Amino acid sequence: MSAVIEIKNIKKSYGNVKAVDDISLQVKRGEVLGIIGANGAGKSTTLEIMMGLRKPDEGTVTVLGMDIAKESEQIKQKIGIQLQQTALYDRIKVKEALELFSSYYEKKRDINEIIEVLGLRPYLNKFVKNLSGGWQQRTSLALALINDPDIIFLDEPTTGLDPQARLELWGCINRYRKEGKTIILSTHYMDEAQKHCDRIAIIKKGKLISVDEPKRLISTLENDGATLEDVYLQYAVGN
Ligand code: ADP
Repeated sequence: MSAVIEIKNIKKSYGNVKAVDDISLQVKRGEVLGIIGANGAGKSTTLEIMMGLRKPDEGTVTVLGMDIAKESEQIKQKIGIQLQQTALYDRIKVKEALELFSSYYEKKRDINEIIEVLGLRPYLNKFVKNLSGGWQQRTSLALALINDPDIIFLDEPTTGLDPQARLELWGCINRYRKEGKTIILSTHYMDEAQKHCDRIAIIKKGKLISVDEPKRLISTLENDGATLEDVYLQYAVGN
């Protein structure tokens, strides 16, 4: 598989805090890459640097063969971003949000198709803020899909959702994965990372501890019946 994203030696500090401390990583075309790590480990900052939303202090980011420092506008047309729940969409209805986002892009996917796939039709005239968490997340996934992106970024897409809503959201995500899209997400749910991700990147205190397939990470532990949760406890926490 070829790399759709290549980050090399990226660093980002906020005052004395080294949020990202020399991370290099390649994301392969068509893979689902999960980023795990404790709160404050640097997951969001790493994701936001890959998305072009934050500039690294040092290092380079290449997305789809383009340098993010020089061609961020072209890159934005080809990526989809689902951020953590924000107040941004609170005052608009689902349909309005979809239309607004659609106006940002040159290339667009058929909105009606996205509405059908994500089951949003009954909710189009509702305010986003009045939807349950699961439907808010589906709405923001729909917004991330509008430009038919090659790469989809999801920052903790299932946080706070009940088990059924999480399962259903993964059904939606997997549908787009089958189309060959590359998906990069952060999550605190080790069960879903183990089940759905091709590879897992473990970040701890701004450093990339390991990146590998879940089963290979699990096989580094001695105990039989270990899960990705054990991997997390072994590698992502503590000093
Ligand atoms: P994670 O997503 O793993 O929880 P973050 O990337 O959000 O981690 O944060 C990494 C570190 O950088 C944390 O110590 C956090 O407090 C700090 N940080 C993140 N964003 C900012 C910011 N805008 N200003 C100051 N510190 C920040």
